[in-house]
Amino acid sequence: MSKNITITRNGMIAAIVAIIAVLVINRNDEPAVDPADSIYLNANIWTGDAATPSAAAMAIKDGRIVAIGNADQINAMLGAATEITDLGGRLVVPGFIDNHTHFLETSIGLSSVQLRDAATPEEFIRRIGDYAATLPAGRWIRVGSWDHENWGGALPRADWIDAVTPDNPVAIDRLDGHMVLANSLAMELAGISADTPDMLGGEIERDQDGTPNGVFKDTAMSLIYNVVPDLSAEELVSTLNNGIANALSFGVTQIHNMGTWVELGAFTGLARVNALKLRVYSFVPLADWPDMAAYVADNGRGDNMHRWGGMKGIVDGSLGSTTAWFYEPYSDEPGTAGFPLQELEPFYDAIKGADAAGLHVTVHAIGDQANDWLLDSFETIAAENPANPYRRWRIEHAQHLSGPALSRFAQLDVIPSMQPYHAIDDGRWAEKRIGAERLHGTYAFGSLLAAGARLSFGSDSPVAPMDVIAGIYAAVTRRTLDGANPDGWIPMEKISVAEALTAYTAANAYSGFQENEAGTLTVGKLADFVVLSDDLFTVAPEDIRHVKVDVTVIGGIVRYVREQ
Ligand SMILES: [Zn+2]
Repeated sequence: MSKNITITRNGMIAAIVAIIAVLVINRNDEPAVDPADSIYLNANIWTGDAATPSAAAMAIKDGRIVAIGNADQINAMLGAATEITDLGGRLVVPGFIDNHTHFLETSIGLSSVQLRDAATPEEFIRRIGDYAATLPAGRWIRVGSWDHENWGGALPRADWIDAVTPDNPVAIDRLDGHMVLANSLAMELAGISADTPDMLGGEIERDQDGTPNGVFKDTAMSLIYNVVPDLSAEELVSTLNNGIANALSFGVTQIHNMGTWVELGAFTGLARVNALKLRVYSFVPLADWPDMAAYVADNGRGDNMHRWGGMKGIVDGSLGSTTAWFYEPYSDEPGTAGFPLQELEPFYDAIKGADAAGLHVTVHAIGDQANDWLLDSFETIAAENPANPYRRWRIEHAQHLSGPALSRFAQLDVIPSMQPYHAIDDGRWAEKRIGAERLHGTYAFGSLLAAGARLSFGSDSPVAPMDVIAGIYAAVTRRTLDGANPDGWIPMEKISVAEALTAYTAANAYSGFQENEAGTLTVGKLADFVVLSDDLFTVAPEDIRHVKVDVTVIGGIVRYVREQ
């Protein structure tokens, strides 16, 4: 009997020892979580994540969100070295993703002559002359972003500016990037004369006697661009870094760049030495798909700072340049309905080839016929090609849609990749160009969402400013820049602040294969977010444009703070 008692006592002691040991091990493990690198408190966080739509605090470690919730939950992650920021109740949203930039052009344009708001030909000429006077002889004048609609629609001419640019070749773009104005010096360097033939998918503006007078449209722009010298590597890096600072000031944490191999190379170089301060997803021209397939085979698709594998094609031109491809002629230029910029059969083959090679294809389409042709092509190719994990068809602009097209985006899972600022810009004169009837499917944000499409937004910078707040204002109010539509132009297509934010964040993460990494403020995702000066959800819609980006954070690193 005593033996039994001993055994029982020994058993008890063993049990106590085990319990104490577990307790002590747990105590030694405390804190149960690693302290955060930084925590943000007293915030009004719109997460974009339906599981936890709002929160007051957030903790970050190693560039990712490790907790999001109330102050008590987040304070539990406080360590001796944790940086604490009190946001004073300001709105925090996921970092903005701009799904369509021409980044090098934008960056060059920042330091060039500014013509977007030149209201008269006289002002246009004066600004170019003033800028030229600051340059050494021989230096090209680029970008500019002029808009002849500002003065009623007369195209500029070389002889407007020859006298003020005698020593500087000029190649400045209409803000839509579908026309370039060259001065006589640039045309001379390019060997342009009355004998220069027209080209497929382009137009050369000529005088009665056939002499080109300075404006080159779409593919014909290459006649001038071919003689514009490349930037040196040093100029390239400093120019891109200016562009990155500009993007960060607008709360942009990632761009989808509709760019060139030069840009892809530059971003790769910057990322390799940890000097890239903006996330980039690089697209190159669709025609280069065999090269990109080989590049991906050798180099993979990049990392969270710089990724590639996107191919960008173009079906047609633009509304502003009357080169967007419609079924019916332009109302104000009945001689044309626009046109595809190349032979459609080889173009279709390129889309199909790129998709079969496992690349991500997106294509520019603006006119109703261009959009329908592309939807038809995507549908056929998806049925004929083998499965492609990188098939997330996008149509860049999707600007003027036929009735059936409005629902086909959702049916075919084609992403409408749109730019809301264009709506309040083009809205000033679009009716003159295409008439009232065709306005029904124009910048149809609301209709596309109602049909279930994954609406996604960007700027198309330098066509429009890389100003996301202005884009949200445009999508929510549809107030045209001329003030003529205070209740919104085609008001049924207005969308909510949350829908516009989603189009700039989660939808863009999806449209770039990053839905598991970015786009919402969710535990485990990259700590990319923006602090705003005011609450987008409570200010009057017309005041959204006055909301400022106060702070931009990428991967937990503060990359921009607004000077107050
Ligand atoms: Zn573009």
